[in-house]
Amino acid sequence: MEYFSGFFTGILKLFGFYSKEATVVLIGLDNAGKTTLQYKLRTGESYSFVPTQKPQEQEITIGNVKLQTWDLGGHKAVRKLWKQYYRTADGIVFVVDAADKSRLPEAKKVLNFILKEDALVETPIAILGNKSDKKEAVPMQKLQEELGLPKLLDAYRKIKVFNTSVTEGYGYPTAFEWIAANLP
Ligand code: GDP
Ligand code: MG
Repeated sequence: MEYFSGFFTGILKLFGFYSKEATVVLIGLDNAGKTTLQYKLRTGESYSFVPTQKPQEQEITIGNVKLQTWDLGGHKAVRKLWKQYYRTADGIVFVVDAADKSRLPEAKKVLNFILKEDALVETPIAILGNKSDKKEAVPMQKLQEELGLPKLLDAYRKIKVFNTSVTEGYGYPTAFEWIAANLP
């Protein structure tokens, strides 16, 4: 627990003294690990959640930075609604379940939608290849390919992939540091 309290202090440092107001959105398909991550950021503890079925919002505020969490399902009908969740973001944390190969095409679709958004070309996007503690997790390089990222990692885009395990507690602190350092 020491480590996570330390991490929380770390985020406070990174976000808490950020002088402007900023919104960071935590998005991805359901079951990727977003709720668990947000809970950890808030309390430092792990708790198993029933995966969220609706794109319902959870929000925590750290200093001037709002962290909003949304589930983005792949159903066509709701795709048009996605925009309203991420369009105004100053930073995006996109969580992918790297151990669920069957849903990587769906995650890729959502990610490509976001990357096509003109308003977001300068927005830092951290992609968390989460659940990398699982033995069936797709390795980083393969994950980037499955998500169609080699093509999209243009020099001008602030986009970076991180190997993470929310439950084991690694990878995401670095991702948040990177986001904080790249906020406008
Ligand atoms: P959400 O739908 O994106 O909010 O996903 P949840 O946070 O509800 O997590 C879905 C399930 O994945 C839960 O059973 C979590 O305990 C589990 N989970 C989340 N992150 C990890 C991880 O890094 N490793 C492993 N092994 N399981 C995880
Ligand atoms: Mg959830």
